[in-house]
Amino acid sequence: MLDVLVIGGGPAGVVAAMRAGDLGARTALVTKGEFGGMAANDGPVPVRTLAHAARLIRDARQLGRYGIRVGEPLLDYSQLLERVREVVDDVRAHSAFRSQTNSAGVQVHEDAGVAQFVDPHTIVTESGLTLQSDKIILCTGGTSRKLSVPGAELTATHSDAWGLSSVPQSIIVIGGGATGAQVASVFNAFGAQIQLFQSGPRILPTEDEDVSAAVAAAFRESGIEVREDFGSIESFEKTASGISMHFSKNGERESAEATLAVVAIGWVANTSGLDLAKAGVEINARGFIGVDEFLKTSAPNILAGGDVTGRLMLVPQAIQDGFVAATNAVRGSEMKVLDQPAPIGSFTDPEYAQVGLTETKAREKHEVATACVDFKSTTRTIIDGRTTGFCKLVVDRTTRKILGCHVVGERAVEITQVAAVAMAGQMRVDELAQVPLSFPTYAGVLGRVAAMVARQLNLDLDWQGHRV
Ligand SMILES: Cc1cc2nc3c(=O)[nH]c(=O)nc-3n(C[C@H](O)[C@H](O)[C@H](O)COP(=O)(O)OP(=O)(O)OC[C@H]3O[C@@H](n4cnc5c(N)ncnc54)[C@H](O)[C@@H]3O)c2cc1C
Repeated sequence: MLDVLVIGGGPAGVVAAMRAGDLGARTALVTKGEFGGMAANDGPVPVRTLAHAARLIRDARQLGRYGIRVGEPLLDYSQLLERVREVVDDVRAHSAFRSQTNSAGVQVHEDAGVAQFVDPHTIVTESGLTLQSDKIILCTGGTSRKLSVPGAELTATHSDAWGLSSVPQSIIVIGGGATGAQVASVFNAFGAQIQLFQSGPRILPTEDEDVSAAVAAAFRESGIEVREDFGSIESFEKTASGISMHFSKNGERESAEATLAVVAIGWVANTSGLDLAKAGVEINARGFIGVDEFLKTSAPNILAGGDVTGRLMLVPQAIQDGFVAATNAVRGSEMKVLDQPAPIGSFTDPEYAQVGLTETKAREKHEVATACVDFKSTTRTIIDGRTTGFCKLVVDRTTRKILGCHVVGERAVEITQVAAVAMAGQMRVDELAQVPLSFPTYAGVLGRVAAMVARQLNLDLDWQGHRV
């Protein structure tokens, strides 16, 4: 009998197993496929590699502006996919988690197939393993939500898109959230004709309104057809050249055609095959495993963490969940999941990122001051020829604390990391404005926008207004 059994080898599961092992528990990790989960094999690592290639093509086109003469960049997609595989293997082989998991004494069972409960303490796997444990931690992640209209089986997911052997001539992307926007942006850069369909009034609906508008405008300018509020899908049909999507709005029917249709309409918990009823684990109204603040499920000996719980579905949160769930599995409920500022970003072109509250959300509860600096007026972006975008700061007028930061453009994701650190450290906006951030840098843009807010609030800064 084990002390702790972790199911799922993504970031949540790996950290949970490592932590349980470090705390002296007899621990095993069992996972369907390879170590690393979606993060290493299907999510951020492959996507970031493809996005990097898209960025290189864009940068190559800019070389002429700097007096460097080269021809028009040509993409060899199969060679790029080779590079993606190389990167994924490299990341997996050099993962510090791998060696730490081994040194924590965790038994790792990879490629075990789907694990299924026999009772609350026992699982069997497709590969024929039977494991029994006092505590079990579920970290089985999420999977793409499917459409349920006729012909939906003809559509692809983001994973199928990364697995294509050549760049399709055209793609219909359904869903204008983070994943859909990345598929659209990357394949647009690779030369596919993209139509991006969003059922709601704006793409990137969880971002600040200004961010959605700026990214939609930049996408349109780069040739992506962005269809917001397009109505509802009725069916898909196979055509000679690919697929056709039939949809309607207010009784008016329309069709769109493309070589491929990629559906990116959100996530569901990856619980199929687990037979949760045998373990007494309940699913919440959103279809994810319900957990309390200690990550305990409805079954007394079972905890869960990461995407399978359906909260912020990101690697840093999965890692934190794994740590908390394992600590509580071994020591009893003593650690809560922290509610910290969580920066979120996406590697589209242009990039976008956020931390904290959107301006609209902030105004619901705070007296707010905001400032926005346009990338057309910041030195580093001008130097680099990357003047699309902005950095916006949302601040509480009374406390002067930073409530949110929203960025579109080059290095948006990196800029918000600095804002997140300032927010986690409870800095006031005038304190941030006085940190002598290096010039000319992208992070320095944040200092400038902080100085703009401080000025609005009549806060006395030594070098207020002198930032560039
Ligand atoms: C296209 C894309 C881009 C992304 N980009 C980012 C990004 O830039 N930054 C970021 O932070 N996050 C990103 N994410 C999200 C990130 O990948 C996830 O939040 C993270 O992987 C969640 O970790 P996890 O451990 O909860 O689950 P996963 O990584 O999904 O791991 C779950 C593991 O459990 C296994 N499993 C499932 N069911 C069973 C079973 N019954 N038995 C045994 N094993 C099972 C699975 O095979 C898998 O290995 C992206 C995701 C996608 C799809």
